[in-house]
Amino acid sequence: MNAADVDIAILGGGLVGSSLACALDGRGWRVAMVEGAAPRHSPPGFDDRRLALAAASLNALQALAVLPRLPEPPSPIRRIHVSREGDFGAVRLEAGDAGVEAFGGVVRAQALGAALESRLADCEGLQMLRPCRMVGLEASEAGWTLRLEGGDGPRSVSARLVVAADGTRSFARDALGIGTEEHDYHQVLFVCSASTDRPADGTAFERFTAQGPVALLPMGRDYGAICGVAEADAPRVAAMDEDAYRDYLQQRFGWRAGRLLRVGSRSAYPLARVLARAVSAPRALLMGNAAQTIHPIGAQGFNLGLRDALTFAELLGEGGADPGDAALLAAYVDARREDRERTLAFSDGLARATANPSATMHVLRSLGLLALGHVPGLGAPLVSGAMGFRGRVPRLSRGAT
Ligand SMILES: Cc1cc2nc3c(=O)[nH]c(=O)nc-3n(C[C@H](O)[C@H](O)[C@H](O)COP(=O)(O)OP(=O)(O)OC[C@H]3O[C@@H](n4cnc5c(N)ncnc54)[C@H](O)[C@@H]3O)c2cc1C
Repeated sequence: MNAADVDIAILGGGLVGSSLACALDGRGWRVAMVEGAAPRHSPPGFDDRRLALAAASLNALQALAVLPRLPEPPSPIRRIHVSREGDFGAVRLEAGDAGVEAFGGVVRAQALGAALESRLADCEGLQMLRPCRMVGLEASEAGWTLRLEGGDGPRSVSARLVVAADGTRSFARDALGIGTEEHDYHQVLFVCSASTDRPADGTAFERFTAQGPVALLPMGRDYGAICGVAEADAPRVAAMDEDAYRDYLQQRFGWRAGRLLRVGSRSAYPLARVLARAVSAPRALLMGNAAQTIHPIGAQGFNLGLRDALTFAELLGEGGADPGDAALLAAYVDARREDRERTLAFSDGLARATANPSATMHVLRSLGLLALGHVPGLGAPLVSGAMGFRGRVPRLSRGAT
């Protein structure tokens, strides 16, 4: 085999590609990361969205020395409150009942992105090719040759393994000939900050309404507010000024968190599910949104993508062997199957539940049974799923180093 320029080329320096580069640091691999965004311009995923990170993700980001670089610690989620418009009562999950202090924590994607970038700067031997866009991918004897275009003009890099972490509309996935299965939820998600007359106390609220899901995630004394709106109604909602949107959000969410005082500026995200039909190809893997883009309502997308990255880094181990070895890639696919399938089913179930009352009741009943402890053995797997411990759990997610 001809020598390759690097062992592993990571395409995409978003949350997942960056996490993978951190997880590979110090293990003796020659790694290049290709990111289209310019150095002082954040990758598009490092924006104002609030991310609920499962306990398993917090463990791993702590072990990777990323968490200590956040300007402030994640806001703990101590309880989860789930309700449905038109139903009396609600389901409450208490972290204390599960014997833990918190189910996870909330951070701004922007802050997490900055913490990852600060950690990347300390990665030994990581080649950052940025701003650089991949515009072609060709099979070579060593593995793959990536054709790149950047500030310095066209160039190419050969790698023994390509990891496609280039997001929902993955260029690499198309170039590898991997198709997708897609579903348009015909919803737009509006995200903003919100303050209430009752300071947040660690409760994450999830409310299902006929128009779409509404969630409040605790961020210090305030909340990150997420509101799903039917596509047809989205232009009207987008045009509202902040006071009108605050009143709209209050009417959609109700009063369980108190009176909404102020909302911040809004970002809007159209919602679709995009699942790759395969997550591997010869000498290539798909991770994060390139492998599976899911509805944000279950707060699972990055958590799942991080577990993709951690699992591969763990199976790969220390430098020396062939990172594109077919048996290794097959072991990775096998190791990710259960977590991927269960997380996709959970997220899609929640997303569709909002449009389908009987399905909502199914989800609520499951959570209700868990809260009330009526079904022995059911509670533990559901709680551990919410905390990010599904299937084969990577060592770093268990807090091991
Ligand atoms: C409103 C909202 C709320 C969310 N809330 C949560 C939550 O609470 N918890 C959670 O776990 N997840 C959440 N998610 C999901 C989470 O944000 C994503 O799963 C995650 O950011 C995906 O990261 P990624 O690195 O896989 O992809 P991306 O962030 O899309 O990164 C891909 C990167 O690849 C680069 N790129 C693409 N093509 C090329 C190319 N040809 N050449 C070079 N570079 C390229 C892009 O510039 C980009 O930086 C939420 C999502 C949304 C929209």
